Amino acid sequence: MTSPAHPEETSAYAPSATTHTTVKRAAAPEREAYVHPARLDQPALREWDFTDAAGDAVVVLGRMLGRASSVKDGHNHPEEYAEKGVRCSACRWFDVSILAVDEDDEAGADYVVYTCGRTIVPGEVDRPRFVWTSSPREVVESLVVRQDGQPKLPVASARALAQAADRDEDLADAYENRLVA
Ligand SMILES: [Zn+2]
Repeated sequence: MTSPAHPEETSAYAPSATTHTTVKRAAAPEREAYVHPARLDQPALREWDFTDAAGDAVVVLGRMLGRASSVKDGHNHPEEYAEKGVRCSACRWFDVSILAVDEDDEAGADYVVYTCGRTIVPGEVDRPRFVWTSSPREVVESLVVRQDGQPKLPVASARALAQAADRDEDLADAYENRLVA
């Protein structure tokens, strides 16, 4: 009488009759909480240049927590520029930056969320928007858009928020507790 093979001892040469036996997996070793390397690094503190809707410079002293864009390289239409209503992310796209504002900045807020609907189509203008806030939840909320009445996070916003959540615990809490997909 043979004793049942220990899982670790089971080899490719084991008779097939034994393959139906229950194989107990060794318990996975206790894992330490994963810490993304970015959490350990403070992004560089510097001045970031933006332009507001009036065309004036907006300089933010802070750290870039997350930045993403929906811009694509190729056009998906034969005309030089996408006509109104035609979606082409090489003609019109969306930029997002989330910054932690330095306490020395005049704004007196902890975060600034910059979003800009960009366009290269003649006759159209970029639509920059700034939200200054000290509320991590408002950072998330400011990026939620309504589509057909449903709250939605655009892909670029979700990516920028994911980066920011890796670098800022308060934003991580606000983002992970938000129920928007
Ligand atoms: Zn295009």
